[in-house]
Amino acid sequence: MKVYRTIEEIRFEIGKLKSAGKKVGFVPTMGALHEGHISLIRKAHEHSDAVVVSIFVNPEQFGPNEDYETYPRELDEDLEKIKEQGVSLVFTPDRTELYDSEKYLKIVINSLNDHMCGASRPGFFEGVLLVVNKLFNIVQPDVALFGQKDIQQFQIISRMVEEFNQNVEMVMVPISRANDGLALSSRNAYLSEQERKIAPGLYRSLTYIEKQVRGGVDTPALMISHQKSELEAKGFKIDYLNMFSLKTLQPVETLAKGEQYILAGAVWLGKTRLIDNILIEL
Ligand code: AMP
Repeated sequence: MKVYRTIEEIRFEIGKLKSAGKKVGFVPTMGALHEGHISLIRKAHEHSDAVVVSIFVNPEQFGPNEDYETYPRELDEDLEKIKEQGVSLVFTPDRTELYDSEKYLKIVINSLNDHMCGASRPGFFEGVLLVVNKLFNIVQPDVALFGQKDIQQFQIISRMVEEFNQNVEMVMVPISRANDGLALSSRNAYLSEQERKIAPGLYRSLTYIEKQVRGGVDTPALMISHQKSELEAKGFKIDYLNMFSLKTLQPVETLAKGEQYILAGAVWLGKTRLIDNILIEL
């Protein structure tokens, strides 16, 4: 496994893979790797001949009061973990390798970031698109793998690929969970022992709502508001919890057969923000 910090080196190595006719699979991450990231790498092997992983904590997707400085950085452990997964190349650029001090351009997102995490994290998805766009241009992957855990991110990147005619196949990988249902996340490391115990409550609420919806409830607003109150009583602070259209990422009041929805929530437990979702096709 080769590890490179510069664009020039990684481009050169990927050029060699491509001229050998290899299909390149790409897994972008911010490090502090867990089983969820590893599941993306495993899936990448099914879709490609050579897997490239990037590890970069992207400053452009953190708001001024967010956790860029304290985000967990565990490069040595990360490299150990992915060495076992048969990864060909790892790209770990410094901040200055990807970003110049001056920027004259930015990406603007229409409507897809009005709700869900886009509403509570202004500029977040623009920052994600900026770095993914750059990484796609550097790595030139044939296929890129992202987690369902960040489903709004997946949908927005997929639109970028489509609207900007990028030649990348997008693959979504299901959410990896702990035994008690909590979605794995690098940020789970922030949870206290007590918070960790109640954290699976978010997934439990989502599965409860899912069951009712699959059972025929087509106007879930009241039930959702009831679940919000239950979560608040347990100590969660609700950012959002709702049904959204998979395509438009807008909230939906009345559900219809044949449509695809995301049942998604974001909550705070103390200083930790947790997100989770379930895809529902009726
Ligand atoms: P991050 O390092 O948090 O930016 O995540 C890198 C990639 O891993 C993204 O595509 C995430 O959606 C994905 N990911 C994070 N957590 C999980 C999880 N629990 N299950 C599946 N994929 C995940």
